[in-house]
Amino acid sequence: MRMHGEIEGAQAEIRRRNLSRMLRELHVSRPLSRSELAARLHVDRSTVASLVSELVGRGIVLERPRSRLVPQSPGRPSPVVELRQSGPGALALDIATDWLGAAVVGLGGKIIASARRDLSLSNASPEKVVADLAGIVRPLLAGIENAPRLVGIGVSVPGLVRAEDGRVHAAPALGWRDVAIGELIKEEFADLGASVCIGNDADLAASAEYLRGAGRGTGNFICIWGEVGLGAGIVVDGRLLSGAAGYAGEIGHMTIEPGGDLCHCGARGCLESVVGEEALLRRSGRDPLGGTAAIEDLVSAADRGDEVALSALVESGRGLGIGIAGLVNIFNPDRVALGGLYGRVYRYVRAPILLELEARAMPAPRAMVDLVTGRLGGNALLLGAAELALGPTLDDPAIAPLLQEQAPAGAVHHP
Ligand SMILES: [Zn+2]
Repeated sequence: MRMHGEIEGAQAEIRRRNLSRMLRELHVSRPLSRSELAARLHVDRSTVASLVSELVGRGIVLERPRSRLVPQSPGRPSPVVELRQSGPGALALDIATDWLGAAVVGLGGKIIASARRDLSLSNASPEKVVADLAGIVRPLLAGIENAPRLVGIGVSVPGLVRAEDGRVHAAPALGWRDVAIGELIKEEFADLGASVCIGNDADLAASAEYLRGAGRGTGNFICIWGEVGLGAGIVVDGRLLSGAAGYAGEIGHMTIEPGGDLCHCGARGCLESVVGEEALLRRSGRDPLGGTAAIEDLVSAADRGDEVALSALVESGRGLGIGIAGLVNIFNPDRVALGGLYGRVYRYVRAPILLELEARAMPAPRAMVDLVTGRLGGNALLLGAAELALGPTLDDPAIAPLLQEQAPAGAVHHP
């Protein structure tokens, strides 16, 4: 009897894994026919049929005839399996130093609705930030038709996030230390009944770019993410580097000028204090705390050929290049993408970064690395946060309830 139970357990595990693989294929791909799914999953057609029917039953996918625009092969047209917008989805929240963002994101990384408010959050209390988030999220949710079922809330924070419990150990640019932001968010949005996951901004940007943007098709990828703070998400052999507690990737706090300016973290001469937003603005003669508006002003000055603006950008590019050269030597990435602030000023910092790479990175890893800009722009953080929140459903799609279990009270019940 015991053996029988073990076999059943193993079969259930195989099925769970196949359901997860099928959903992940659809999540990163376009709609696929059953035969395409069978080929990608290396399973037979009857297994595909049974898996699809479970995903349909749980309201995650639907099958529809292939679009007429696609040339039909002769014979019976094969319907395609596609994600259902009213299926599982995530509420993604982006807490940055200069703005708050929110989006409802469906499976497939589809941003169904989003909103953003520019405001300075340096030294804003966590309670105030959560109240401001609610002011953005509530109208956003109210305005969505055919909304997904929110299974999770993913939150991007510009700081060190402890992997174990999602506590923000430190977010120097916000002035936060040891903040249980997840608990505050869970309380505020208790009515949504969704779990809350917190992630570091650069890690989330890297995971989104790796899945759907500049990192696609690579195995070793670094996404540099900078706004006021500066960090990196580092993918090694297809896995995001986390470190012992989740704090890895804080490249902004590598010392590059011993005895240099004081950094938000308390040390001196960190890369962030040399090339971060505040240093860039100061170098260009602008208010270091001027935020998004000051950066936009700097970029338009550079666009007009303003010498001071251009040389401030080149100087920041050089500092960044020194940091990236070190990363290239250590991690031997296929590709390095610049996101956030550096994505927006990429055209001005690319040349000085390449010069520093030429001078400082070792020839073999330098020759194979590609320097690019992020492809997802400002959405990288929201998409990465959504990815975090959708993780449990992607791992085990059967946690989504069957559709008949969701029927409202009084609905006709078909046995
Ligand atoms: Zn520092």
